[in-house]
Amino acid sequence: MRTALYPGTFDPITLGHIDIIRRSAALVDKLVIGVAINRDKGPLFSLEERVEMIEAECVDLASQAGIEIVVHPFENLLIDCANDVGAQIILRGLRAVADFEYEYQMVGMNRVLDASVETVFLMADAKHQAIASKLVKEIARLGGDVSKFVTPLVNDALKERLSS
Ligand code: ADP
Repeated sequence: MRTALYPGTFDPITLGHIDIIRRSAALVDKLVIGVAINRDKGPLFSLEERVEMIEAECVDLASQAGIEIVVHPFENLLIDCANDVGAQIILRGLRAVADFEYEYQMVGMNRVLDASVETVFLMADAKHQAIASKLVKEIARLGGDVSKFVTPLVNDALKERLSS
């Protein structure tokens, strides 16, 4: 049974994240989406809202791919979370060179903490590669159209949150 942990803030989940989830579904038996609580980052959506949106987006995806997808909030060390959920793999998406530097350090440190957990990187389709939750929020905040970056459910949630 191959289990991967895909960690992130998912504030909110974008088509970039979904692209990575879809690709990983072809590689693993079980995917645990680890939602970092990240109080420091001051997320726009609460943990419960982020989890709910991810769950809603993953139902069809899981049944289509025939794998189990579980959404798991976490606040502890990533490597401990991987062990808690029985993941042998940490899955990360790579966008641009800017992501590489940070990811390179993370892999190095996590390997020292636990060499048995392997980090695997996937790249989204070209049309989804530039999408970042942070920029989606900025564009939405300024009244821009983010429908090419998120699902209709998330688009509506952004509109509702930013109009109040
Ligand atoms: P963001 O940086 O957009 O706030 P997260 O912290 O939620 O995203 O990221 C979780 C993981 O998903 C990270 O490995 C990140 O690199 C990856 N990811 C996010 N957006 C994309 C994308 N458009 N293409 C590929 N990977 C992505």
